[in-house]
Amino acid sequence: MIQLSQSAYVSLRQHGEETYPHECCGVLLGCFDDNGPQSILKTVSRIARCGNTREDSPHNRYSIDPRDLIRIQRAGRERGEEIVGFYHSHPDHSAQWSTTDLAEAHWFGCSYVITSVEKGKAVLTNSFELTGSDEDDKKFVDEKTDVIQHP
Ligand SMILES: [Zn+2]
Repeated sequence: MIQLSQSAYVSLRQHGEETYPHECCGVLLGCFDDNGPQSILKTVSRIARCGNTREDSPHNRYSIDPRDLIRIQRAGRERGEEIVGFYHSHPDHSAQWSTTDLAEAHWFGCSYVITSVEKGKAVLTNSFELTGSDEDDKKFVDEKTDVIQHP
């Protein structure tokens, strides 16, 4: 299960609207907590926007610059935050993962959040957790998404 702060949720959906008709992408920062047996709760406190480095096919592919990722990870650690997932948008496609999304996902236990953006407007936001132990048995599992309101 993943919990997003209201501001993180709004911000990642807005990012998808801004980059339409191209895919946006970014990193989810927060913490992992035990949530009962074999259940991990991920809480997202902030997002880090990334530029989409895919110039060949930015409308249906995304890729995060590894140097961006290292910089984001370092800055997060200084604030006591971990990378708990990634997000991207699907311009004029459903908020479901694609075979390419699975092939390019490598962070086990992390969340992959996808927002469908139809005609420039963010519609659905779904989250999938990457489970398994290696590249051969990895799979995406539907994950409950909660948005927490802050007072
Ligand atoms: Zn995708």
